[in-house]
Amino acid sequence: MNDKEIKLKEVENETKKDEGLPLRAFATNLVFGKGSPESEIMFVGEAPGKNEDLQGLPFVGAAGKNLDKLLARVKLSLKDIYITNILKYRPPENRDPARVEIELHTPILLKQIEIIRPKIVCSLGNYATKFFLALGETGKMKEIPGITQVHGISKDIEIKGIKIKLIPLFHPAAIIYNRSLIELWEKDMEIVKKGIQEMN
Ligand code: URA
Repeated sequence: MNDKEIKLKEVENETKKDEGLPLRAFATNLVFGKGSPESEIMFVGEAPGKNEDLQGLPFVGAAGKNLDKLLARVKLSLKDIYITNILKYRPPENRDPARVEIELHTPILLKQIEIIRPKIVCSLGNYATKFFLALGETGKMKEIPGITQVHGISKDIEIKGIKIKLIPLFHPAAIIYNRSLIELWEKDMEIVKKGIQEMN
């Protein structure tokens, strides 16, 4: 394991032990993250669903399978990105998380960001996008425009002193049910790929 993997494992183990973390009591497994911590590109979704909860891995259900296909279309895969969610435990019946639940899960995401030091963060869907555009201030999330207005528009943000290009993308689950979004996704991914080229 490399340095980043060791540090992430430590945070994962600490999180597993935290009995006070909300939603833990309802969940089967902690869903911490997967992919390559060396890649400097993070994808962040909302919260684990049923399959993710059962397997303890993010994006393994229908949305995840679609994400794999969408990434393959633009010649990317899990080895090029690290992927996680804002919430590390599944909310029961996939209900919307309460503000306090988001707030108590946020420090874990921030630790992941501090370790990985991504140059690009792709927020997947409305919820994760609002979270990042409000810079984690949950009270401000309601004021942020929806994903249909902000997808593909990159924004420079700073988290824990790390300069990040935020690129909002449609949630892969939304694309399963609305095939016309594929073209928009591919256009938005061009912006991600341009960001990757600039990075190198
Ligand atoms: N949707 C998400 O936002 N995250 C997952 O891990 C799965 C589905």
